[in-house]
Formats: sequence, C-alpha cells, structure tokens
Amino acid sequence: MSKSYDAIIIGTGQAGPPLAKRLSDAGMSVAIIERQLFGGTCVNTGCIPTKAMVASAYAAHLARRARDFGVTIDGDVRVDMKSVQARKAAISERSRTGVEKMLRGLPKCDVYTGHARLRAAREVTVGDETLIADRIFINVGGRAAVPSMPGLNDVPFLTNSSMMHIDSAPPHLVIVGGSYVGLEFGQMFRRFGSEVTIVEMGPRLVQREDPEVSSAIQDLLTSEGINLRLNAKCIRLGGRAGAIVAHVDCDDDRRTVEGTHLLLAVGRQANTDDLGLDAAGVSRDERGNIVVNDRLETNVPGIWALGDCNGKGAFTHTAYNDFEIVASNLLDGESRSVSDRISTYALYTDPPLGRAGMTETEAQRSGRTILVGKRPMTRVGRAIEKGETTGLMKIVVDANSREILGAAVFGTGGDEVIHSVLDTMYAKAPYPVLQRAMHIHPTVAELIPTILQELAPPAS
Ligand SMILES: Cc1cc2nc3c(=O)[nH]c(=O)nc-3n(C[C@H](O)[C@H](O)[C@H](O)COP(=O)(O)OP(=O)(O)OC[C@H]3O[C@@H](n4cnc5c(N)ncnc54)[C@H](O)[C@@H]3O)c2cc1C
Repeated sequence: MSKSYDAIIIGTGQAGPPLAKRLSDAGMSVAIIERQLFGGTCVNTGCIPTKAMVASAYAAHLARRARDFGVTIDGDVRVDMKSVQARKAAISERSRTGVEKMLRGLPKCDVYTGHARLRAAREVTVGDETLIADRIFINVGGRAAVPSMPGLNDVPFLTNSSMMHIDSAPPHLVIVGGSYVGLEFGQMFRRFGSEVTIVEMGPRLVQREDPEVSSAIQDLLTSEGINLRLNAKCIRLGGRAGAIVAHVDCDDDRRTVEGTHLLLAVGRQANTDDLGLDAAGVSRDERGNIVVNDRLETNVPGIWALGDCNGKGAFTHTAYNDFEIVASNLLDGESRSVSDRISTYALYTDPPLGRAGMTETEAQRSGRTILVGKRPMTRVGRAIEKGETTGLMKIVVDANSREILGAAVFGTGGDEVIHSVLDTMYAKAPYPVLQRAMHIHPTVAELIPTILQELAPPAS
C-alpha cells in the first residue's frame, strides 16, 4: 500500500521543518521523514551543543582571569564536565523537542521515523511504507568525513557526534584538522583542562582565511597552551585506546604526537550514499553532493536538494536560506537564487571570527584595485574595557566601484559586529555610506566607520 502526498521532505535539519510548515500552511499535505534525531546536526551535534560548551569554556577561562578584573576567587577553578554536558544536553533537547512538537502539530503533515530511500522519481520508501508525491525535498545533511588515513581503522577515534557524549576532559586530546570544528573543540577542551594538540596538514590554520587572520588565531591558541603541528603532510595513526600515537612526518618516524584521545575534524561528507539517488536518476558530484541549479532544483524535475547535501553551503544559515529560496519560488511567485547570497560565517573560538564576503587574498585575485582598512583590537576601546584585546578587524573595498568586497572581524563580539558590514553589502550601498554612519559608543562596531576612513592600498 502506498500513500500519496503533495510533498515529501527527507530530513528534519535546518531546511526541512520550516519548509514543512510553509507547505502545510499553504494547504498541502506533507510527509516528513527523520531517521535519527529531530533537528539534525545543528541542534544535536553541531552549532547548538558546541556553542553551549564554548560558553562553559568561556566561563572557566574568565574565572581563571578573575584577578585581572579585580575579582578574587578563593580556591581553584574547576570544571565539572558532567554538569557542562548536562547543560549542553538540556539546551539541545529543548530545541530538538521543539522541532518535533512543531512538526507533529502541523495540519496535514505526517511525521515518519526511519531511513528514507528514493525508489523512483516520485516514490520514497521508509520502513515498510511507500510514499508518493510530485514534489520531493531532500534535506539529509552530512556527517563527519572519515578519510582513508593509514592506521585509522586500528585506533578508536572521536567525531563531533561522539564528542557530545564525553563527560570528562581527556588528559591529552589530539585533534586532526585545523579548521573550524577542530579549533572550536581544541580551545574549549584546553579550557576544560585537557592538554590539546592540533595536527594540521597545511602550513597554517583555517587556510581559507587571510594569512594574518590565520596567524592571529594561531597566536591566540598557542597563548592558551595548545600545541600545534602544522605541515603534517603524512599523518599515520597507531597505538590503542588511551594511548594514541600520530606520526606526523612522512620520512621521520620520530616526529610523533602521543595523546589519550583522537578527534577527527577533517571535513564533512553528505549523507547521499544510501538514499536511492540512482533509482530516481538524481545526479551527485564527485564529492557526493547532490547537483542543483541556482534555484536548488536537481536534474530531476520535482526534486529539490537543500542544506549541506547540495554542497552550496555548510552552515545552518545557508540551509535555512535554501528553505527561504525554495519556499519563495514555489509559494510566493518569486525568483530567488543561491547566487544572490553573500558568503558569511563565524568561527566560534573565543574571541570569535566573523566573516563576510571575500578575503583580501580573494579580492586581490579577482583583479580588482582594492583598498584595505585595518585595526587591531588593542586599539578598540570596548575591547580594552572588557579586557579582551586579542584580534583584528579588516575591511576590503573596491577602489573604483566603492563596493564593500569583504570583511573579517576577529575579536570580541566579532560574530555580531560583522553584520554591520554584511547588511551594508546586501543593501549594495557604497562604502562611504557606512563610513559616515554614526555608531553607538562604546562598541566594537563603532570603529567600522573609522576603519573605512583609514583605507589604504594593500601592503603588497
Ligand atoms: C561541530 C559542528 C559545529 C557547527 N557549528 C556551526 C555554527 O556555529 N554555525 C553554523 O551555521 N553551522 C555550524 N555547523 C554546521 C551546521 O550544523 C550544518 O551546516 C547544518 O546543520 C546543516 O543543516 P542541514 O539541514 O543541511 O542538515 P542536518 O542538520 O545535518 O540535518 C539532516 C537530517 O537528515 C536526516 N537524514 C539523513 N539521511 C536521512 C535519510 N535517508 N532518511 C531520513 N532522514 C535522514 C539526519 O538524521 C538529519 O537529522 C556546525 C557543524 C558541526 C559538525
């Protein structure tokens, strides 16, 4: 027996649930399928729990620095990892149950639990059920990539998902991967009391950023006692539970890192391998991402792919924006596309890095004549008052068109401050508009107009 719907949604990540609500509000019958935890990665093993843990790590760090602010704490500052995890779990759970409750409360929306597979272009199976619809929306997200690394099969390793269950700080956490996920976990566990070593194959951390931003992040982490092994060209793993050995040099076996736990943070892999895409004729690229056009339509009419699984973004806000694009095009008669959006994201170290648009390197490579404005956080009053002067801000503009091309705010409040620049970019306003804006004192954002008054050609 099969059941027919107006729409089937596979996955309850960041795009599926709001889409189910929009379609249901529009009077459509909807089936939504989740095989694991409602809310997906962000809610259960990504943004929300990690940022809750970053907040605990920040509290520990600030408590240790209490004397800097004239505050005395008698006795040691200790971290109770079980309580940290319980706080994080409660925050995630609230969100997860909220998503499930919302979906189950929608009129004409059936919620299925189980692994969904496409059987044909209009047909999805989940368990013993066969569902049919003219519109299928795939929102299956991704998981931690596990590369074929010598020795990896023989040692126990953690991913962002299994890290969620660790309720004591590992004595020595070795992290393979020096990008966003690795750095966030690295700094938080250092602050929870672990020794931490980050092993990165490339010559610097977060390599998509400008070298000076990478270098400021590197200085921050080393200042907190995190060990870095860069240029680890040939990583080979060995040892056993509790005594992990990472060989980090191709030729020299003596270059090893020994730790107690291993966290793999080397990227993400779309959950598209067991989805029946071939049966429906839906194309994937060589990385496993579902191929979509600018409107997030796959090569099969009536099938869309939203969120991390389409490779057009790797963030909660990109997945949610995918939902907005698809819903507007389908229900509001609009013509929105992915290429209208400006790249933006944050790295949640403390302080965070907020980013919008191009890096300086990308702007230079684009062949434009650019101007750059910069300011170290040591020259930002608000940062000095808060005792948080790590980092820098920089803005890149096109000297001829006066368009803002991009910005990086690595410093206290960087994840919020960046929106001052981002929204000006969306408004397509030339940089003098922001240069002449009056901002609130004392804030970090009040220096954005000043930075734009001090623009200069790049150093090289
Ligand atoms: C450690 C970490 C920290 C992060 N921090 C941030 C951050 O601070 N900010 C940010 O913007 N992004 C962050 N991200 C990225 C963010 O979590 C993802 O980009 C976002 O969750 C993607 O949402 P999605 O809707 O594409 O998929 P997901 O949230 O992954 O949801 C997909 C859902 O589909 C389900 N599913 C998969 N296959 C099937 C199937 N065959 N049948 C039924 N159900 C299926 C899955 O179980 C899952 O629930 C972080 C990621 C990680 C790993």
